Amino acid sequence: MGTFPEAHSADYCWGGCPGSLQEAMHVFRAFYPNVEKEMEKILYVVGRVEGPLDLKEGEKVIFAGGCTGWKGTIDGKDVTIESSYKTTREVDEKKTKSNDMLLKTTKTLLSCMRNRNSRYLHVKGCPISVADHVHYLSAAAKIKNVNFDHRYLIPVNIAYWQMRANRFLNRFFG
Ligand code: SF4
Repeated sequence: MGTFPEAHSADYCWGGCPGSLQEAMHVFRAFYPNVEKEMEKILYVVGRVEGPLDLKEGEKVIFAGGCTGWKGTIDGKDVTIESSYKTTREVDEKKTKSNDMLLKTTKTLLSCMRNRNSRYLHVKGCPISVADHVHYLSAAAKIKNVNFDHRYLIPVNIAYWQMRANRFLNRFFG
């Protein structure tokens, strides 16, 4: 845990990525009560962190969130994680990225695939959603991805496509 950009809360980001990580672990625990013992170890780095990481043999690192910054070496290679954090004044709300579930899921899974052999993942976003945390933890710590559990996959997709259909119809009849 490093330091955070907003002056009123430099030591923790309330409601941001750390809380989202905790919720993702609660989700995993509901499916796998011993998940902490069964998952592979990962190092989760959030905020601006100085100094070397205490990275053990075989551990992967998740650099989580747009505010995260770090510079150092991993496996003898120089790694620089640049912060891309923007204050609310710097964000143009008319140009926010799509929050579409399928688009976000596809992007996240592609990122997990691209980095499957890397020792670290740099996940941008402010905050990173619980669902994305589940994807990234699943990939990095080799836990079965509960986002694709058959009990939820069908109802979630039915609800998603109903939402899309209703939005489409509302354009004409709303
Ligand atoms: S990226 Fe944003 S939400 Fe996540 S820890 Fe940093 S400031 Fe908080």
